[in-house]
Amino acid sequence: MRRCASVPDWFGSDARRRRGMVFRNGVEGVVKRFFSLLVMLLFTVALVSGCGSSGAKAPAEGGLTIKMLDVGQGDAILIRTAAQTILIDTSDSDEQVKFRAALQKEGVTVIDKLIITHPHRDHLGGAALLFKEFTVKAVYDNGQATTQKFYRDYLKQIKAKKIAYKALRDGDVLDFGGGVSFQVLSPTEAMVEDGGQTKDGKINLNLNSVVGRLVYNDFSMLFTGDAELPTEQGILQRHGKDAVKSLILKSPHHGSKTSSSPAYLKAVQPKVALISCGTGNEYHHPHPSTRKRYEEDHIDFYRTDRNGTITVHTDGHGYTVTPERGVKNDDTEN
Ligand SMILES: [Zn+2]
Repeated sequence: MRRCASVPDWFGSDARRRRGMVFRNGVEGVVKRFFSLLVMLLFTVALVSGCGSSGAKAPAEGGLTIKMLDVGQGDAILIRTAAQTILIDTSDSDEQVKFRAALQKEGVTVIDKLIITHPHRDHLGGAALLFKEFTVKAVYDNGQATTQKFYRDYLKQIKAKKIAYKALRDGDVLDFGGGVSFQVLSPTEAMVEDGGQTKDGKINLNLNSVVGRLVYNDFSMLFTGDAELPTEQGILQRHGKDAVKSLILKSPHHGSKTSSSPAYLKAVQPKVALISCGTGNEYHHPHPSTRKRYEEDHIDFYRTDRNGTITVHTDGHGYTVTPERGVKNDDTEN
C-alpha cells in the first residue's frame, strides 16, 4: 500500500536519474548537486509550511471565509484566507457542471492548496476538471492508493504538471496564510499502511480520511472528510479531547450515522455542524440519528441539500454562518 504514496513524487526517479547523469563527475558536479539539494530542501520547507503563493482573489473584507459548496452528493469546501485559496475535496465526477459554476461564481482561478481527504469519487471526482481548467499549485492527500482509473489519472496529472505533492500525516501542520493554520490529526502512517482495514477484514477508505483542525485566533473548525467511528476513536485516543474542540464541525461522511459518535461530539463541542449532501441522495444522508444527536447536543446544523452553499465568515473572533437559502436545523427527510 505504500507503493503509491510515493508515486506522485515530483522529484521522481526520472528526475533523479537525470540529475545523476548531469552531475556525475567533478567538483562542478558536487557544487551543482549541493545547490540542487538546497533548492529541493527550500521547496519542501515551503510546501510544508505553506509560505509563498496566492494569485487568487482573497476575500475583500479580509479575515477568513469558508464555503461549503452546494455540489450535490459529495464534498467541496472552499477556504479563503487573506493570502491563500484552499480547496478541500472536489465534488463527484457527476457534478462537474455545478462544481465549475460554483468556483467561477467565487472568482477562483488559482488554488494554492488542494487537499483530497480520501480517494473516493465523491471527493476526488472533480480533480480532473481542476487540473484542466484551473491552476493548482500544491496537492495534499492521505497517500492512500486505489486501483480506480480516476485515481491513477489524478496521480498522472500531478506528475505531468509537476505539481508539488505531499501525503499528510497526523502531526503535520499546514500554513494557510493570513494567520490561519491547519493541524492534521489523522491518518497515521500505520493506518495508511493498513489500508483502511475494518475489524472484519474489509477495506473502508473512509477510515483514512484526512482530518484536520483549522485554527484562526479564537475561531476553529474541524474538517473530517468521510471519517467514521474508528477514526474518531483513534483521534481521541492519540490526541485527547482538547485537540479536537472546535466551534464548527464539518459533519463527517455527509451526516452518516457511522460518524458523529456521541463521545466525539462531546469532545468537539461544536456550536454548528455543516453537512454536505445531495437532494434525494440514495443514502438518506443526513441520517435521522445524526440529526437527532445534533439536536440533543444543541448543535445547529446546515445542509447543502436544503441550504445551498453555506458560507462561514470570521475575523478570528466572532463568526457568521449564512445559508444561500432556507433555514438552519431543517429536519426534513431525504
Ligand atoms: Zn463521501
